[in-house]
Parts: sequence; C-alpha cells; structure tokens
Amino acid sequence: MGFCPMAEFLERMQSFMHKYVFDVLAEIRPVDILDILILSVLIFSIFKFIKERRAGRLALGLGIFALILIVSVALNLKAMKYILENFYQIGLLAIVIIFQSDLRAALEKVGNTPIRTFKKNFTESDFNSTVELAEIISDACNKFSAERTGALIVLELETKLGDYMSQGTIINADTSVEMLRTIFYEGTALHDGATIIRNRRIYASGCFLPISQADVNKDLGTRHRAALGLSEVSDAVVIVVSEETGTISIAKDGQLSRFYTYATLKQAIVEYLAPEEVRRERQKNMRRNLKRGMKDE
Ligand code: ATP
Ligand code: MG
Repeated sequence: MGFCPMAEFLERMQSFMHKYVFDVLAEIRPVDILDILILSVLIFSIFKFIKERRAGRLALGLGIFALILIVSVALNLKAMKYILENFYQIGLLAIVIIFQSDLRAALEKVGNTPIRTFKKNFTESDFNSTVELAEIISDACNKFSAERTGALIVLELETKLGDYMSQGTIINADTSVEMLRTIFYEGTALHDGATIIRNRRIYASGCFLPISQADVNKDLGTRHRAALGLSEVSDAVVIVVSEETGTISIAKDGQLSRFYTYATLKQAIVEYLAPEEVRRERQKNMRRNLKRGMKDE
C-alpha cells in the first residue's frame, strides 16, 4: 500500500511522543517545576554569556546537531544516531579544550561576582561625589578626544581588580582632570595601558588588561579590545578614548557602545555607579511633574 511508510512513520512518532513527552508530562511533580526553573535561569545565563562570543556560533551548531540527533532517534536512523552519539561524547571534550579561555573567563566572572545581599548605603554626599567624579572623567575624556590623546580608564565596581593593579603602578591620588591629563600625556611613562579608579580615587596606572577574543569591528585595535576584554571578565565600566579618531566609547559586560559626548558620558557614568539613586531621583521628578501637571489643569 502506498501510504504504509507514512503510517509507520506516524506510528513511530506517536510512540516517541508517548515515551518522551506524554508519559513524562504525567509524572511532573511540584519540585520538578522548581528544577526546571533553576535550569532555565542557568541556561539563560549561559546563553547570555556566550551570545556575543565565538562560542555563540558553536552553541548554534551544537543545537542543530542535537536536533538532528532527536530526529534520528525518532526515525530510528541507526547509522546517523551512532555517529552523532559518538560525536557528542568526543565533541564535548574537544569543546572544553578549544574554548578553554572562554570557559575560564566565564568561571572567573562567576567567582568574582559577589552576591548582593544588602543595599549599599549611598548617602547624599556619596551621590554628589559620584556626580563630581563623572564630571571630572567626562571633562578629561572630552579634552582627550579633542586633542586625540588615547586613554583607557577603568571604573572598578564590585569585581576587585587588584590583580590588574599590581601589574601597573599604584598611584592612589584624588581624581582630577589635571591628574588624568598628566597620566595620559604621551611621553609620560604611565600613559601606556589602563588607569584604574577605585572608590573615586585614581588607584593605579599603566595596567595591562586582558584582550578580548570577540569578533569586533576591524577598525578597533588593542586598546578597544583590552577594554572589552576586562568588561567580559568583570563588572567594571571601561572608558576608551581613541587616539586615532577621538571617539569616546564604553565597554561594559562585553559590549562596546561608542560615540559618547561630555553629557552622555557623564550620564552613563552616574547611572553605572549609582543606579538606585538615579532611579529614585527619576521617580521623584516624575511624581513632582505629575503633581505640577495636575495643579496647572
Ligand atoms: P586607538 O583608536 O586609540 O588607536 P586602538 O584600539 O586602535 O586605539 P591601538 O592603536 O592598538 O588600539 O592602541 C595601542 C595602545 O593601547 C597601547 O599603546 C596601550 O596604551 C593600549 N593597550 C593596548 N593593549 C593593552 C592592554 N592589553 N591593556 C592595556 N592597554 C593596552
Ligand atoms: Mg590604533
């Protein structure tokens, strides 16, 4: 009969669905939902981490292989199944070796990220000094941009960057436009490499940062790759001024945003350093405007 293979296929699909879908669904307990939730969060974090990396394409390839494997099992394609199953066993080991550096970066980031258990006490004067710091850095970067001085400034947040600082020169000075301009002035011994700011102070200069392996715009050289690299393994905010074009960029969480001006850079820095305060301030302003709007009516 002509439709026999089709009927057989449908039957096989049906028993496959029963075995792997319906029977499984019938057995779900509340803890399984928790299990799935935790797994989802984990998969989401892994996905987010690899999205922007070389490993992202690899993940896509693996997904396609997994899909073919599932179809081969369903259709009982023995040879295909045999090859793919073996590929998975050897392949996983190969992946660990090939992507050793990416995996290391991922683990480093997990290890370096403290769990935020309580809110930081940000007093009003802390907030004012944060805004002041943002103004100083933006002012300096604006000048670097105009005079085509290359600069690489790191704002340390929760991930401690002591390892990178110890490779540079410890300065521990108040942050000022003059100090930043002196450091990045071509001809000084410290202008090469990154300057790291900790607790609003210029803490170290001439620091060497890890270079990113991500595929980026070919125009971007090692300074921009170093900024990206540190942002991949830490929560630091890294500001770059290009010596060639004067462009001001920020690298954060493995992403490079470009073309900042004095105003947008200042705003971005304040938002990164005091996100809670900025949010609260916005809500306050919104409420005030609403009230004013109602009075005017
Ligand atoms: P620009 O647009 O300013 O030219 P770029 O991204 O094209 O920047 P390069 O021209 O290669 O980068 O800039 C080289 C400078 O970048 C070096 O002189 C050094 O100051 C800095 N730099 C390069 N690699 C690192 C690193 N790993 N860590 C810190 N600074 C680095
Ligand atoms: Mg260059």
